[in-house]
Amino acid sequence: MGAVPERIALSSGERPLKIVRRRSARRFILRLDDEDDAVILTLPRYASSAAALRFLDDNRGWIEQRLDELPPRIVFADGVEIPILGVPHVIRHRAESRGHGAAWLEPGTLCVAGDPRHLARRVTDFLRERARHELGLRARAMAMSIGRRVLRISVRDTRTRWGSCAHDGALCFSWRLILAPAAVVDYVVAHEIAHLKHMNHGARFWRAVEDLAPGSGAQRSWLRRNRARLLRFG
Ligand SMILES: [Zn+2]
Repeated sequence: MGAVPERIALSSGERPLKIVRRRSARRFILRLDDEDDAVILTLPRYASSAAALRFLDDNRGWIEQRLDELPPRIVFADGVEIPILGVPHVIRHRAESRGHGAAWLEPGTLCVAGDPRHLARRVTDFLRERARHELGLRARAMAMSIGRRVLRISVRDTRTRWGSCAHDGALCFSWRLILAPAAVVDYVVAHEIAHLKHMNHGARFWRAVEDLAPGSGAQRSWLRRNRARLLRFG
């Protein structure tokens, strides 16, 4: 297709522009990628480049407003505050680890040693490991309390689901849950563990969730309200 640029200039600066041509699209569809702030434009198969450019131009105000509404991106860096199980911690670079390893917790502080150029990656590695540990503790305890077993726990950077559960007891969670309050983590784990007994979202399933982690309604709404914010860390 001709000359649709790969970036779009906005009042807040340039953003990546991704064009998706879809046979089934009946009209132009605009959305934002909350991971990298890219503008994604879906086009009907036979739309011209000129029409695409005109559409982008007509909707510039909408794009700018939506970008404004995104929660701020929180890059992991020295001095930046992040929540761990909902408790604020400031990231601090330390010259020496003194046997603590690459990253460790002190009250209110996430300490990271080594080359400052690797700090962001070390923070992510630390949080992933912490998530696996905390989620694992909860999952095993809850599973035992209902007479089920957890086969394996893995953490990933999932974007559409906080957790998932296979029939064989393999659980998968988003590492970003470690940024949420403990009660929210309890709810997500309870949800997946309850699926070891009820592979559906029926009334008995929700009663099992509520038994494992009371107050699930409030935690679910916290996750809905804070999803975009959690995806903007790192
Ligand atoms: Zn479910």
